[in-house]
Amino acid sequence: MSKIHDLWASFQIFSSNFTASYGSLFNWVLAVVVLAVLIFILARAGLAGRKGLRGASPMAGEPPHPVLTQRAAESLSTAIRYPTVTGNQSALRDFQRYLCRRYPRVMAVMDCACLPDGSMLLRWKAPQSQLDPVMLCAHLDVVPGGEGWTVCKPFDGLRLEGRIYGRGAVDCKGVVIAMLEAAESLIAEGHNPKRELFFAFGADEETGGHVGAQQMARILERQGMKFDLVLDEGGTIQDTQREGRRYAAAVVCMGEKRQCNYRITAVCPSGHTSQPRRTTALGVLSEALCRVESAQPRIRVIPLVRKYLDGAVASFPFGKRLALTNRFIFRLVRRRIFRKDPELMALLRTTVVPVCMDGSFEAANMLPASTTATLNARLLPGDTPQKILEELQGLLADLPLEVELVSEGEESFITSEKQPLYRQLREVLQERYPQLPCIPSLMSSSGDARHYSNMSDCVLRFSPLVTGEEAGCGGHAADEFLSEQSLGVAVEFYRHLMRKL
Ligand SMILES: [Zn+2]
Repeated sequence: MSKIHDLWASFQIFSSNFTASYGSLFNWVLAVVVLAVLIFILARAGLAGRKGLRGASPMAGEPPHPVLTQRAAESLSTAIRYPTVTGNQSALRDFQRYLCRRYPRVMAVMDCACLPDGSMLLRWKAPQSQLDPVMLCAHLDVVPGGEGWTVCKPFDGLRLEGRIYGRGAVDCKGVVIAMLEAAESLIAEGHNPKRELFFAFGADEETGGHVGAQQMARILERQGMKFDLVLDEGGTIQDTQREGRRYAAAVVCMGEKRQCNYRITAVCPSGHTSQPRRTTALGVLSEALCRVESAQPRIRVIPLVRKYLDGAVASFPFGKRLALTNRFIFRLVRRRIFRKDPELMALLRTTVVPVCMDGSFEAANMLPASTTATLNARLLPGDTPQKILEELQGLLADLPLEVELVSEGEESFITSEKQPLYRQLREVLQERYPQLPCIPSLMSSSGDARHYSNMSDCVLRFSPLVTGEEAGCGGHAADEFLSEQSLGVAVEFYRHLMRKL
């Protein structure tokens, strides 16, 4: 503080000497410089908002093929009525049977394995092909319906005003239906693929894919399969409205954050609640969790996320654009600017969050001797489970507790933008939507693709659904819906992709 004081005092002396020698010239020069810098900063943020993401949305352009779209909408509406919550084996098997009935051409032409856990693996052979195959992934299971639905019940599959409502509409039955509708219609037209195509539909993606995707990966590994591309859900065609303008971009995730879990165990002597000690196991654990919440790992912008921010800058509101376009100036305050946006923060730092607690008694007259909490962490590339463990141990070193690493997921690699099949995917998008920018990004959650990642150098996380307030949203939330137009866009994309690959 005293340093700043000294500096300010020296500046004032210099300023008064200068003013004494050169009159008010100095003040004018200073005012002009400050004004110029301010105009520069504001202009950069303002101009960034005019960058070319506007008017390019597939929702605003020519609608997709009406017959294909109507059929796909009927299929999705029926698909939602199967309550395939992870672990509901009978619903999953019924859903498998529905898909077999609904897509007779697909079932006749492809090898289809309906696995006992509810997963499905399909293989569209191309006997003459010299090319390595491509794998398209999605999942048949959904999260529970949850509370708060206002339009219909979660498994009604209601079609209303051009939308299909229900659990799984976006995540991820819309993708499954779009892929199968595309394949069914292409087979009807007599299309033969240039290379083998695999479709892997897991039945437990929502709980980690440890049964469905893992067993399909083992089957494929035993056959020695290598894929030129593994394409799973992740980014979408994002369509947002801001200040009366429409912004759209296809966000393709080139990698995903690694996941791991930690356990904190607080131990204090048990006893009668009438004679408590100064600290209790519950009190210590609560203090630890408050510290974890307020001391999140620092912001770090990795090159892949920098590309995403630069590409998507126009779609952010002015405050964020100010911080993103003048990052050196706003370095110190950017956390304050970004922190209300959890989606953005998830790309900028490793996150650690308490997810469950255990150990307290039902009885109101006994102090528990130990309590535990589980923390879920999502690691930015470059961070390791061990590094975060050490940071947590350092943060909580003065408390009577233990922190341990209980599980860690596989690390995902970042797919290079030079991969030929990434370029081909971009071409497919650009041929149909020339104005639509394609932006690489990082997936902050994780999907089934990681189970297949050692069979390919090109693992991309992207579904061609258009998502946003109007097009489709609500995965894992109430009133999940997908617009019929968005579903039609996805069918067209997969048709084009399957023809091109
Ligand atoms: Zn999903």
